Amino acid sequence: MDIKIEKLDESQLRPVPEDFGFGNVFANRMYSQEYADGSWGEAKIGAYSDFTMSPASSVFHYGQEIFEGLKAYRRPDGHVNLFRPWENAKRFNNSASRMSMPMVDVEDHVASIAKLVEIEQEWVPSAAGSSLYVRPTMIATDSALGMRASSRYKHFVIVGPVGNYYASGMAPVAVYISDEYRRAAHGGTGAAKTGGNYAASMIASEQAKQKGYVQVLWIDSAQGKYVEEVGTMNIMFVYGGKKIVTPKLTGSILPGITRDSLLKMAPDLGYEVVEEMIEVEQMLADIESGAITEVFGCGTAVVVSPVGRFGYRGKDYCLDETNVGPVAQHLYDELTAIQFGRKEDPYGWTMKIEVE
Ligand SMILES: *Cc1c(COP(=O)(O)O)cnc(C)c1O
Repeated sequence: MDIKIEKLDESQLRPVPEDFGFGNVFANRMYSQEYADGSWGEAKIGAYSDFTMSPASSVFHYGQEIFEGLKAYRRPDGHVNLFRPWENAKRFNNSASRMSMPMVDVEDHVASIAKLVEIEQEWVPSAAGSSLYVRPTMIATDSALGMRASSRYKHFVIVGPVGNYYASGMAPVAVYISDEYRRAAHGGTGAAKTGGNYAASMIASEQAKQKGYVQVLWIDSAQGKYVEEVGTMNIMFVYGGKKIVTPKLTGSILPGITRDSLLKMAPDLGYEVVEEMIEVEQMLADIESGAITEVFGCGTAVVVSPVGRFGYRGKDYCLDETNVGPVAQHLYDELTAIQFGRKEDPYGWTMKIEVE
C-alpha cells in the first residue's frame, strides 16, 4: 500500500513536552483515509490538525463510530515494539462489521500504524512504564439526517505519549456493582468498541464515584446475575493463588487482547485458567470465604488493576485494599517484560519497528 507522507512546515512541528499525563497530548502527525463510493481512497500521513465537518454528519446524530486502543513501547535497545497490532486490526473490523461500517485491510492498517509510529518515534517515551498510545478511529461522514448506514467514512489514527498509569505505584481500587444500569445487552453492541457503549456507561461511573468507588462492575443485562466486566476492562478472579477464572465471552463482553494474552501466558507461568459464567452472588460468597484470593481488571491502558473492595446492595466485600496481590504482580511483570522487549517473546506477539 502507498501512503502519501506530507512534509510538515516548521510551524506544525511542536517539541515533545516533558509532562504529558494520560491522553492529553498528541504527536505532530496523524494518519487519515476517506471512504466513498464503495472503496477506500488515498492513505495519508500529515499534520495532526482539526478537521471541518458538516453539522449534519451522521456520526454526530446516530453515533456510527468505532475505535481501537493499542500502544507502542520503547525497547531497551532503543527500537520500538507494537504489541499484537494484528489483533487490534481484526477487532476494529469486527466492530466495523457490527456497526455497518466498511472494513479495513488488516495488513495495510497495521502497516500504516507502524509507519506513523516510525515517523513519530521521538514521541515514544522511554521513562519506565510510559508508552505511545495509538488510537485508530472510524466515523460516519454522510451529511444527511436519513436514518441509514452512511456511505462515506473517515478513518484516522492519532498517537500520543502516555505516562506510567501507576506513577505512584499500583494500588487496589474500590468497585461498585451497579444493580441499576447495564453496559451491554445480548444482541447489542457490547463486543464492539463503539462510542455509544461508553456514553451509556458514564452515568453509572458517576454514581459509583458519588458513593466512594472508583470503577463499576458490570453484570449481564438478561438476568442481572453474571459478572461481565469492570469499567472498560475485563475481569479476572484468582482462587487459592493458583487458579484464574474469568467470564467467558458471551457476546456482550468486549474481547480484550490483554485478557487473551493473560489467558495464554498464565498456564506457562504455572496457573490454571478457566473461562466460565460467574454468578455475582457466588463470587461475593467466595470473597467472604477467602476462596478468592485476588481480583483484578485487565486492559491495554493499565495492564492489570487490582480490586480492593466490592460494594453491592449496601454491603462491602473486601479483599486486600493496600497491597497488590502476587498473581496480579506476577502477570503484570511478565506481560510488560514482553511488551517492552525486556524479555524474549515466545508467542510472536510483538512487532519490532526499527528506528534511527
Ligand atoms: C478496550 C476494552 C477492554 C480491554 O481490551 P484490551 O484489548 O485488553 O485493551 C475491555 N473492556 C472494554 C469495554 C473495552 O472497551
